[in-house]
Amino acid sequence: MEMNDGLELPAKKVEYLKYLFGRNTAVKTNDLASRFGVDPSTITKTINELAESGYITHVPYHGVRLSEDGKQYAEFCIKRHRILALMLAHYGLSDERACSEVSRFEGLVSRYAIDRICHAMGHPRQGICGKITHDSLCPECEVQDA
Ligand SMILES: [Zn+2]
Ligand SMILES: [Zn+2]
Repeated sequence: MEMNDGLELPAKKVEYLKYLFGRNTAVKTNDLASRFGVDPSTITKTINELAESGYITHVPYHGVRLSEDGKQYAEFCIKRHRILALMLAHYGLSDERACSEVSRFEGLVSRYAIDRICHAMGHPRQGICGKITHDSLCPECEVQDA
């Protein structure tokens, strides 16, 4: 997959990827449907779209899991959430409020912007809702980590 600009997926699909990233095993479509409160037929359609784009793979009889590209993308999405939430918390929002505000717009913030903000914040390691990893997806961070 080409290095993407971070704007490829709508918020809902980002949430699916982040959820799958937190699970080490394959997840059944029905479990996803009930977790996100959507109709099984709706989730099947979404899952097929994500599989066609290469973010997830079907595991026969076990459901779906992230592909390597999907894992990378999910890692970026998690980092994006945590950087933005940390930024809002820094400007006076409560942790809870910062997370929920960010959840509404995070899918619209590009990889470029996140890289710059991360750099300006000094590559923070700890977000308000989890650790922030500085991985190969962020060239600036990679230099820092070396
Ligand atoms: Zn959060
Ligand atoms: Zn960084």
